[in-house]
This record gives sequence, C-alpha cells and structure tokens, in this order.
Amino acid sequence: QAFPGDDSGNVKPRQTPGVLYSKALPTPVKKPELLAWSDELAQELGIEKPTDQKDIDVLGGNHVAPSMYPYAACYAGHQFGNWAGQLGDGRAITLGEWEAPDGKSWELQLKGAGLTPYSRRADGRAVLRSSVREYLMSEAMHYLGVPTTRALSLVSTGDQIIRDMFYNGNPAYEPGAIVMRVAPSFLRFGSFEMPAARKETENLQQLVNWTIDRYYPHITGENRILDWFKEVLERTAHLMVEWMRVGFVHGVMNTDNMSILGLTIDYGPYSFLDDYDPDFTPNTTDLPGRRYAFGKQANIAYWNLGCLASAIAPLLPGTQELVAVLETYEEVFYRKYYAMMAGKLGLDAPTEADQDLIRRFSETMATLNLDMTIFFQLLMELPEDVQEQQTVVGHFQPSFYRELETGERELLHTLIKDYQLRRKANSMAQEEAVQKMRENNPRFILRNYLLHQAIEELEKGQNTLFLKLQAALKDPYSSQHDEFFAKRPDWASQKAGCSMLSCSS
Ligand code: AMP
Ligand code: MG
Ligand code: MG
Repeated sequence: QAFPGDDSGNVKPRQTPGVLYSKALPTPVKKPELLAWSDELAQELGIEKPTDQKDIDVLGGNHVAPSMYPYAACYAGHQFGNWAGQLGDGRAITLGEWEAPDGKSWELQLKGAGLTPYSRRADGRAVLRSSVREYLMSEAMHYLGVPTTRALSLVSTGDQIIRDMFYNGNPAYEPGAIVMRVAPSFLRFGSFEMPAARKETENLQQLVNWTIDRYYPHITGENRILDWFKEVLERTAHLMVEWMRVGFVHGVMNTDNMSILGLTIDYGPYSFLDDYDPDFTPNTTDLPGRRYAFGKQANIAYWNLGCLASAIAPLLPGTQELVAVLETYEEVFYRKYYAMMAGKLGLDAPTEADQDLIRRFSETMATLNLDMTIFFQLLMELPEDVQEQQTVVGHFQPSFYRELETGERELLHTLIKDYQLRRKANSMAQEEAVQKMRENNPRFILRNYLLHQAIEELEKGQNTLFLKLQAALKDPYSSQHDEFFAKRPDWASQKAGCSMLSCSS
C-alpha cells in the first residue's frame, strides 16, 4: 500500500509527518526459543501451538509470513504532564490482523522486535525481565476480569542486551526476549494527539472515523464523535475503578499509554499494592512527584481525557459540548467507584451513608498500612458474632505489616462494628453478600516479589515458579493456590522508592 511519506525499510529514527504508521520489519535475533505460550488465548484465536522452528521464528521476528504487513504506529503523547511530541512504536511491531474463528479481529504485535523509525535513541529491544512481567501480568489482569491487552507467547532471543541499571549506573548485560501481544487495537490517546498536533485534520478525521466504525460500530448518527468520546470516558473511568478494585498501580500513565479501548496497556514498572498506600508509585522516574501514584490514577485519567478532548476538538463545531462531556467524569467515576466498593464489601446498592463508610474503609486501610488483598479476604471470612475489640483486631492480624497502636486498634474496631451493622441491613441474604465479595476480591495477586523471584529463576534456566504463577493467575478468586496467600516478605519492601524489583525496560 502506498501512503504519503512511505519510505519503507528506512529504520533511521525520524519524524514521519503525514502518516499514522510506517512500515517496519522485525530485526532477526540469534536463537528464538519458546519460553511460554497461552493455551486458552491461542484457542480463542484459533492458533496452534508452534512446534517447529519456522513457527517459533515468526514469534521471534526471524520470519515474516507473506500475508503479514509489519508496521510501527506513529503516535505522540504527554509524558509526566509535558508534551513529548512524536513517540511511536519504538520497539513494538504489528505483524498484521488476525481473524479468530468467532469472527473477532485481533492485532498481533511483537514487543522487543528491533528498531523502528520511532526507536529514537533506544535499541528497539526488551529484556527478559520486562517481557516476563508483561506476559504474566497482562494475562493475570485478564483472568481478574480487568480490561487489558493479552499476551500469546514469550520467546527468548538468545541475544544479550545492554541496560543501564538504575541502582549502580553501570551497564549490565541482560537476556533479551520478545512477547507477542494481542489486542483488538493498540491505538492510544496519543495516536489522536499526533495528527492533531501536526494540524493534519484530514488524517485525524480519518483515524477517528475508522476507530468508531471498527471498534465502536454501535455509535452512529449526528453526534457520533461526541458519543464516542463519552464512551471512551466511560471505559476509562471503568478501568480506573477496576485497577482500584484489585490494587493495581500502572506507574506510567502517560497519554501514549492510554488505550482508546479502555484497556490496560504497556506494562512497565507496574505493581500491585501490598500494604495499602495511596501515595505508592512503583516507578523511580515518578519520584519525588508521585504523579502516577495509586491514589492519583483516577485524576490522571481525567487529565489524560482532557488531552484527548483537545486533540479531537478541531473535528467539532465548538468545544462547549465536548467540555460538558469531560465534566461528567467525576460523576461517572464516583458512581462506578461506589458500586465497585459495594461489591468488595458485600453491600447492596450503596446509599449516601454507605459512601461515608466506604471512605472510612480506604482511610483506615491507608492509616494502618494493611495488606489490601488479605484484608478483604479476612473481611469476607469474618464471623457475624465476632464483636470484642481483641477478637476483631486479632482476626485481621494476618493483614498487618506492623504492630498497631491503641488508637489504630480502636479505629479498626469501630469501623468493623459499623460495617457489621450495615451488613445486617442488607436486603440480600448473607450468603449472597459473601458470594458478591468472593467475586470482587481476588485471593491471588501477582505480587512484585513473586515476579521477581520467578524472573531470577528463569534467568538461571528454571521455570518452576513461573509455571506455578502462570497456573495461579488463571484462578485468582479461588483458594486453590493458597501457597501464595501471604503478605509480601520484609526483604521485598518497596518503601525506599524503587528497588530493583520494580525497574522495567
Ligand atoms: P513507555 O512509556 O515505556 O511505554 O515508552 C515510551 C516510548 O519509548 C514509546 O514510544 C516506546 O516505544 C519507546 N521505547 C521504550 N523502550 C524502548 C526501547 N528499548 N527501544 C525503542 N523504543 C523504546
Ligand atoms: Mg508506551
Ligand atoms: Mg513500554
């Protein structure tokens, strides 16, 4: 396909005005080996597990089938609140689209497949460490029920990659890897910011039309751009609420990492919360500002939606209606948030008074720094007749990271007593409430330290823990994998900011 500015095969880092993507071929690697494969996803896609080297070569970027049309997308973004200009897929290459047996269409993309025109000063590669993190976590999020891109395969490349390690500044070699990730689309807010910034209104219009036709086909009529923005806003708010439900911190919520489909995308220095702390950010480059801390994600999403609104504004006759939609965010978010918390707490439709109770829960978790995941499991298991302070506090002991002070014990006790009263006022049966809690509170989360241990093992050629985690993440609401139902050990504390556990690249 010819398109303006197409100089295919030219991987020199460059600006590509006039286009939304550039042709880009994967750069072959030394020795692609299949480390992991997602059976269920493969089944859904109708793709068989590769057995011969030729197929594995596709997953490692060493072979491009004739039906593929590999390209890197051109997008821009706001990074840490600042306009960053053109970014683009610097190390991701889309091989093409795949139609699954059920008729759904999926973009297949190799991450870490080599230089593209958008690699800027970097190498276009990904290390095993970050690839394992993306592979496992995107699948974990899927099974948690959180909207996300998926990962089909993990391939080691046999090449060594140079990375500057944060902790001592010395270059270090690390094994390289490639993930094949899969999503209906990898379009981002930044994909729309790019043509907007370049004042390529025609391109912008085409991209918006195409996005709506293809991914939001139910939106038709006069106000389709506005209606579409409304739905992007709804999906984004839903995603923020889902992250809060499971305690996920993305870590790099730049507008180029915001999916236009409301998916969790671009897994980098993310983390689950262990001890509850709204100020926690797993990203070293986010210190000291903590822009992307757990408790700020919903606000940042709103800010990012503002960037998207600015980008599409030239397509509308005026900005008034667009701003009006944007201003619904707070209401949309809180409606979803309280409903989600009611699910975690096993309450029927949340009332005004419940909002106060819900706020007290998050404040208490923050004051006591308790383990959010374990706390909600214990809350679910709390017997009705437990009333005494000592027994109540004792019941929650497994979720504490430290000794509680007298006032803190009182705080917890009062909260739980009020909660028990509220639970009694539920219109639904107790078993129903518990069932609701079970469905909304994961028992298994892929804690950072577990990932860290699995990666260390893999680097030594052992995959025992990796396989266990891969199995556990498929069943996060059951107690089948209770060997992992434990607090983060002290040695893995991230309070100091970035430990090497959280670095990604
Ligand atoms: P991120 O915030 O990690 O999603 O990445 C921001 C931008 O940097 C994107 O345009 C990436 O494609 C690019 N990038 C990150 N790492 C690399 C790399 N190793 N090689 C080339 N580009 C990269
Ligand atoms: Mg990114
Ligand atoms: Mg990235």
